[in-house]
Amino acid sequence: MNCIRWNLIYQKGLFYGKFEYRTDNHICMDLQSQNASKARKISKQDLFEHPDLYKVDDLLSEEHKLIRSSIRDFVKREISPYIEDWAQRSHFPYEIVKKFGNLGAFGPTIPVAYGGGGLDYISYGLIMQEIERGDSGMRSTASVQGSLVMYPIYKFGSEQQRKKYLPKLASGEWLGCFGLTEPDHGSNPSGMVTNFKDKGDHYLLNGAKMWISNSPKADVAVVWAKDENGRIHGLIADRGMPGFTTPETHGKWSLRASSTGELVFDNVKIPKENLLPGKSGLGAPLMCLDSARYGIAWGAIGAAMDCYDAARRYAADRIQFGKPIASFQLVQKKLAEMLTEITKAQLLNWRLGVLMNEGKATTAQISLAKRNNVQLALEISREARQIHGGMGITGEYPIMRHMMNLESVVTYEGTHDIHLLILGNEITGIPAFV
Ligand SMILES: Cc1cc2nc3c(=O)[nH]c(=O)nc-3n(C[C@H](O)[C@H](O)[C@H](O)COP(=O)(O)OP(=O)(O)OC[C@H]3O[C@@H](n4cnc5c(N)ncnc54)[C@H](O)[C@@H]3O)c2cc1C
Repeated sequence: MNCIRWNLIYQKGLFYGKFEYRTDNHICMDLQSQNASKARKISKQDLFEHPDLYKVDDLLSEEHKLIRSSIRDFVKREISPYIEDWAQRSHFPYEIVKKFGNLGAFGPTIPVAYGGGGLDYISYGLIMQEIERGDSGMRSTASVQGSLVMYPIYKFGSEQQRKKYLPKLASGEWLGCFGLTEPDHGSNPSGMVTNFKDKGDHYLLNGAKMWISNSPKADVAVVWAKDENGRIHGLIADRGMPGFTTPETHGKWSLRASSTGELVFDNVKIPKENLLPGKSGLGAPLMCLDSARYGIAWGAIGAAMDCYDAARRYAADRIQFGKPIASFQLVQKKLAEMLTEITKAQLLNWRLGVLMNEGKATTAQISLAKRNNVQLALEISREARQIHGGMGITGEYPIMRHMMNLESVVTYEGTHDIHLLILGNEITGIPAFV
């Protein structure tokens, strides 16, 4: 096996990060196999290659492509062989946290001085795309850590908070979570009831958050709560603080390899230095969500590409009526429409990445991309499931897992309809939320 360990060092101090790049294609396949057990064996190998009909790769730098290759190789080695088993058992592989840290998947756009990658937003998007190509739950772990925990600490935190938390979160020594949603306030976070009172030398935090990715294992929670004047602030709660518990949510049919839970605060004493001083109001958590939604727009296309790639291979291999099913017009129509949507989304993501790099991307642009890309990924997963026939409902292929995962992705970080209303507001200037 020909593996090259890369230490990328950008001149001018822009970036330092470790990526592993494998140059050989050590897996080969036999598409012609008519043998069922051989076909099953083939399905277990991760043979993914991304489609690129419009040569979007020409718009990427060599560094972008190298980063993508490195993450893809990691996913093929560390996620693909195990993910079906983790998902079937509803198991969160905690050891992946350290591995993501070593890879540089946490906080890729956070400056190197705080342990981040110092990369641009297209690199960040490609990392999310490749990880979600493996599994949306794995991408959720990475994007919560980077966009929803490290980002607010970097953007709104004090220098002391940045130095204390960011390097440990970047390396995967600590896992973080983001607590915004409450049992009675999901799409409308401004109604939150979680609150804190100023007790002189500390704050007293009370309330509960629900549907929190990573919470059962998290060392650190960025929690959004109202002060005595009803203004929203971010606070950092550390595991082990008396009165702070993180019960796990069981019975999910979606994101089964991701750990989800609650955050319960029963008179938790929060040191005053744990309040994020840089920004208050609902705009603060919404800025974090913009960053995470951007990553989801890329990630969803990863899942869509995996479904398309699996369906294309299966259609070439599966014989019915004496021919590969790929030779039937109805199957070709499904594949052609999948590729069309993926291609449009690749171009959309690239343009949005450029706008993010220039600091010009708007909430409406990010909403459009998240909404569009997750919806098309869901539709592609359903079409790919049909192409796989009965095999499509099994864990032999990634399709059903992606489809079930995407049902969460279309809901979290703003539901499909909430993003439509954000766009409606952009177009008309009239908010239709209430
Ligand atoms: C697996 C998973 C992980 C999650 N991780 C996190 C996390 O890490 N941190 C976190 O804070 N949250 C997290 N969430 C929560 C997620 O962001 C919320 O589920 C989402 O915002 C929707 O809130 P809700 O479930 O309360 O649904 P509701 O807000 O009750 O919405 C129910 C339905 O009503 C519709 N609706 C609501 N208001 C309107 C309106 N004004 N007009 C039209 N339709 C409307 C919605 O579109 C939706 O279809 C996660 C959720 C899931 C499922």
